Amino acid sequence: MTSPASPEAPTTPKCLFCRIVAREIPATIVWEDEHALAFKDLNPQAPVHCLVIPKRHLVGIHHAGKDDVDLLGRVFHGAREAAELLGVSGTGYRLVVNQGEHAGQSVFHLHMHLLGGRPLAWPPG
Ligand code: 5GP
Ligand code: ZN
Repeated sequence: MTSPASPEAPTTPKCLFCRIVAREIPATIVWEDEHALAFKDLNPQAPVHCLVIPKRHLVGIHHAGKDDVDLLGRVFHGAREAAELLGVSGTGYRLVVNQGEHAGQSVFHLHMHLLGGRPLAWPPG
């Protein structure tokens, strides 16, 4: 436990993305450092679609506390590194975090979508 606003354990055994971090479930890893991991989305919505996650389990952005701001910065950094590696830094890309029911969050381990490789419509649905 690292902050009162982050009650989750460092990893949660049954969490899908914690299991990807632990290499218990295969994923195409694009980039990683000590704190964050970027891997390709299983159901891509654009030519480039990967997910960037903190390695430590956090349910969502709304569960991140003040003590997590460095970790969140590392996730952003991972997204820009992955964008560079995937060749979309020149054409641009979109970073999206879905939080909760109305945003359609379906995996409850904080993740940032990196989407690119085609023009992206705005506003989103
Ligand atoms: P959310 O809807 O929570 O914002 O996004 C969850 C994302 O996780 C979806 O885009 C979905 O395709 C992706 N996803 C779900 N299960 C897996 C998996 O086992 N492996 C990978 N690589 N992506 C997954
Ligand atoms: Zn997790």
